Amino acid sequence: MVIRDFQSFSTHLDYLKDSVEPETSGQNADYIPTLKNAPSDVFAVAFCSTDGQFYESGQSRQSFSIQSTCKPIMFALALQKMGTDKVLEWCGIEPSGRPFNDTKLMEDKRPFNPMVNSGALMTAALLAAEYPHILENDFPNKEDGAYAKELCDEILLPLWRTLSANGIVGDVGFCRDTFLSERDTADTNIGIAHIMKAQKGLPPNVSTQTMIDFYLRSCSLTSNTATMAVVASTLANGGKNPITGEQIFSVDVVKKTLSVLSFCGFYDNSGEFFFHTGVPSKSGVSGIVFLVLPNVGGFAIFSPRIDKHGNSVRGSLFAKRLMSHFTFHSYDSL
Ligand code: GLU
Repeated sequence: MVIRDFQSFSTHLDYLKDSVEPETSGQNADYIPTLKNAPSDVFAVAFCSTDGQFYESGQSRQSFSIQSTCKPIMFALALQKMGTDKVLEWCGIEPSGRPFNDTKLMEDKRPFNPMVNSGALMTAALLAAEYPHILENDFPNKEDGAYAKELCDEILLPLWRTLSANGIVGDVGFCRDTFLSERDTADTNIGIAHIMKAQKGLPPNVSTQTMIDFYLRSCSLTSNTATMAVVASTLANGGKNPITGEQIFSVDVVKKTLSVLSFCGFYDNSGEFFFHTGVPSKSGVSGIVFLVLPNVGGFAIFSPRIDKHGNSVRGSLFAKRLMSHFTFHSYDSL
């Protein structure tokens, strides 16, 4: 969609951002140093329309780890690569109403959905099982950590680069310090992986270590607010990057991914958040939030202080004010 009078739209966004800036409640995630020590006052907003119109404000080029915003992209890739039936055989699509790192599985032993850690770990395992060819000759004997690194370097990073318009707006990278600290503090994720292995088993030839390392590497990819708006806009545009024109995911895959984001994207606050905003969204504990406005564009908001659910306080507030100011809510057309 081309937004008419983009100048006045941008002025409204400036105004909304200014209105949210004084909100300083919440705290940085503190379980690893790179998140705990991130400058808490940073506040950035970016928007990319499905036609490539672009707005950015604040420290929108500052890098952060993408954390849980890796989850919908892993899920979309799994759907695209394996088809819906095979993915759903291993992972549910039900809201859990539970914290993102909860160990409980559904009665049929599948994780609730791909946006909680259990589901994201399972998606990582499904992808690992799907890409043995990148290991040249020695799959499945290659050392686990090396396999996860190769999956990340050769599958995920290039995918994120295409989603991010190949560096035209900003690049994606990998934060080794984040990854190493994630791994040092991964006891809950390790527990979840072993529970899943004990209950339903894992996809063929995938170890818990590969599953965990691949997931944590995905969380440790880095991006910035401007770039994340392009990623969100690619989803809003049915999988076609609005800047490069490349069709990255099929429309069907995006439709299914956005459906899950509508009711699972905001941790255990997803229902309340959708009630107010009416659009698919995803947050990460680094303080990133993205919003997908189908056929309109993608927003990204970054501010590191998070609430008790793990969602950026300013990001949530900006989104709610945005949606009450404009008619972007899914049901505003009623
Ligand atoms: N990387 C963290 C974990 O898996 C959290 C990711 C997030 O929720 O943003 O424990």
